[in-house]
Amino acid sequence: MSRYQSINPYTNKEFANYDNPTTKQIDDAINLAHALYKKWRHEKPETRTPILHNIADAFRKNEDKMAKMMTLEMGKLFSEAKGEVEISASICDYYAEHGAELLKPEPLKTKLGNAYYLKQATGVVMACEPWNFPLYQIIRVFAPNFIVGNPMLLKHAHNVPGCAALAAKIIKRAGAPEGSLINLYLSYGQLADVIADPRIQGVALTGSERGGSSVAEAAGKNLKKSTMELGGNDAFIVLDDADPEVLRKVLAGARTYNAGQVCTSSKRIIVTKSRYDEVLHELKTIFSGLKAGNPLKADTTLAPMNSERAKEKLGAQVKEATDAGAKIFYQYPEINSNGAFFRPLILTNIDSKNPAFDKELFGPVAEVFEVDDDDAAIELANNSSYGLGSSVISKNIKHAQDVAAQIETGMTVINGSWITAGELPFGGVKKSGYGRELSSLGLMAFVNEHLVIDVSKNN
Ligand code: NAP
Repeated sequence: MSRYQSINPYTNKEFANYDNPTTKQIDDAINLAHALYKKWRHEKPETRTPILHNIADAFRKNEDKMAKMMTLEMGKLFSEAKGEVEISASICDYYAEHGAELLKPEPLKTKLGNAYYLKQATGVVMACEPWNFPLYQIIRVFAPNFIVGNPMLLKHAHNVPGCAALAAKIIKRAGAPEGSLINLYLSYGQLADVIADPRIQGVALTGSERGGSSVAEAAGKNLKKSTMELGGNDAFIVLDDADPEVLRKVLAGARTYNAGQVCTSSKRIIVTKSRYDEVLHELKTIFSGLKAGNPLKADTTLAPMNSERAKEKLGAQVKEATDAGAKIFYQYPEINSNGAFFRPLILTNIDSKNPAFDKELFGPVAEVFEVDDDDAAIELANNSSYGLGSSVISKNIKHAQDVAAQIETGMTVINGSWITAGELPFGGVKKSGYGRELSSLGLMAFVNEHLVIDVSKNN
């Protein structure tokens, strides 16, 4: 059973906790959301466009408040939290500007009659979200489904309950009808019951493989459509012809942004041999230049991890890796703090038998691999159970595009690390999940493509 607690990872002190809802509260919430779906069925998406712009504005107006709650509950740097509020607002604006147009009926060419398909809402979506981007993850599901006309129930991660409540409050105050987004502090058992409820028509989860397989199983058992945005072990491929300036700039945030806790952060840095020493040197300079401290302070560049538990898990994974022969090339010095700080480190000599080889290390640990050439880089990149994102660094764009096309992932960024925007699809292959969020693809995740064909002429 999930226990919802707000614990500041900088102090490791609890400052709030929340109870699971009663069965009646859950039923009332589903009823409210379902009634709204029925009402929205008779309204055009355009009627919701101004409200979604208002929601974007409301997040911008409440940026500091929302960002502070994120920093207090999961420890991310305040500046990064503010950036997350802005990207979330921009996603609301994207769907407000383009959603209604993208939902116009699609004409179909056929000799059998006048045919088109409507893009219609299907019903209430149950979203189950992780703590690493407490607002952005909510908005990735909420904004497209709001325009489509699918109300959303939210089960956020156990450690960001205050963010869930605040986001729901801001959305409501911005004019979203009651039931558009209902935050529920569900236990796992309660979540399974909600998924089984016939009024629920879609299940969206972002999280780990463990959470994903359990929620996907519940969705599958009840024949509910689902999207799974899961973990990654992203390759960051440095080709021989990488521009040194670009490389330095991109490496800077690739492994330490959000304290390394990003699904698409560059976990495996794969370097052709002519650039290997340079990359190790650059990474060491970047890691040693970080300043650990209070994540609310502007001069802090190294934040604690989201929880003591996450720090311990990462420590155990690193020990397992070194016990199996991995070498620590560099580790950040001791940090004198009660917070959940993990000292960033660089691992080398990880062979394919090492337990870390095919694992997602979710924190500031860079795994660096030396390879002979492009083919070896591609082979290593694809030798993974995951397939979420990837990066290719090269001065020659054609060269980078050729390599990008051979990587088995859902996303590749050339001369950059991970990127996200309302108009860009987000998602992966293999154990990184299925389905896409954001862009027109994310908008269609829980849409009924309803064929209408008039065959009168052929009668
Ligand atoms: P997680 O443990 O799977 O949790 C994600 C959500 O699922 C939380 O709300 C969690 O609730 C719930 N959950 C977990 N196990 C469950 C179960 N057995 N039954 C029902 N609900 C369950 O993931 P996390 O550790 O919080 O998040 C980090 C992971 O998310 C990383 O692997 C990261 O790569 C991935 N991620 C992926 C993307 C993407 O777009 N692909 C984006 C961000 C993060 P509780 O918190 O209450 O346990």
